[in-house]
Amino acid sequence: MRPMMPLVTESLERHFTLHRGDLAEDKERFLDEVGHQIRGMAVSHVHVNDALLDRLPKLEIVANFGVGYDTIDAAACGRRGVIVTNTPDVLTDEVADLAVGLLLATVRQIPQVDRYLRQGKWLEKPYPLTGTLRGRKVGILGLGRIGRAIAHRLVAFGLPIAYHGRTKQADVPYEYFPSLLEMAKACDVLMVVAPGGPETKNIVGREVLEALGPQGVLVNVARGTLVDEDALAAALADGTIQSAGLDVFADEPKVPDALIAQEHAVLLPHVGSASIHTRNAMGQLVVDNLTSWFQGNGPVTPVAETPWKA
Ligand code: NDP
Repeated sequence: MRPMMPLVTESLERHFTLHRGDLAEDKERFLDEVGHQIRGMAVSHVHVNDALLDRLPKLEIVANFGVGYDTIDAAACGRRGVIVTNTPDVLTDEVADLAVGLLLATVRQIPQVDRYLRQGKWLEKPYPLTGTLRGRKVGILGLGRIGRAIAHRLVAFGLPIAYHGRTKQADVPYEYFPSLLEMAKACDVLMVVAPGGPETKNIVGREVLEALGPQGVLVNVARGTLVDEDALAAALADGTIQSAGLDVFADEPKVPDALIAQEHAVLLPHVGSASIHTRNAMGQLVVDNLTSWFQGNGPVTPVAETPWKA
């Protein structure tokens, strides 16, 4: 229904009869015409809900390009026996690299310093001294695949790590906080890497930002919906926290003016996994899930809501 990389469309064309909703001028008509024939879907940023599923009675599998699938009602798919797959693992290191880069860029103001040099201001006087990672404690909201990869990197930076999630994990040495607020009180860096969706909507709000404190740094590489953006813009403006590094926003690609206005924010256009290498690997996994399914070998990477029992 929306454009996907040529690697995906060209591979799918080789294996299947491909109907390109992304090329259809009238999407409603497209669904009327071919919806009843569709058995598999490759999607990226498409809302798959009951209304769409009603129009695809033969649908067996939805292969999502991306590990986050908060645009897909996986429970509704599960009720209809439709498998949902995502692209875990192949992007973990890329996103963790970006998250750490965003943390460094935010604390040491790397984009701002670059702008300073280009504007010729270095000729007048040196850039003012910046904050530091030294002496900080990092709280990770969502110690999953990417959260663990971030922790691994930040341990090498010499930083103590804590985490919050719904469950304590037995096989990690990091401090566990059952409460996000209590973790924010104990840390001055908050790395957000939990899934989006109704359960996590705005869980980083005014109270959590206040707990992070005036030295606080927020980095969000998960989904914009986890952070109350109005509260964040206000917290940056009045010094409740020091700075924020954001790769994701609630209403992409729109970014609130109130965030763009913050000189202490480093803002990226959702590029966490956006290297050629990793996007190719993600595209290949979308294709692999569909080909494996239609060859009768089950999905490669089904999501938790639609587990596959062979
Ligand atoms: P995982 O499923 O491996 O990890 C998710 C973690 O979040 C788990 O540790 C889970 O722990 C925790 N979690 C889930 N629900 C909640 C909740 N309600 N409250 C607190 N913690 C919760 O996912 P990945 O690490 O692979 O990916 C994480 C997210 O990163 C994705 O969902 C995606 O949205 C985002 N992402 C962003 C990218 C970008 O380009 N910026 C690229 C790739 C991913 P527990 O079950 O114990 O709660």
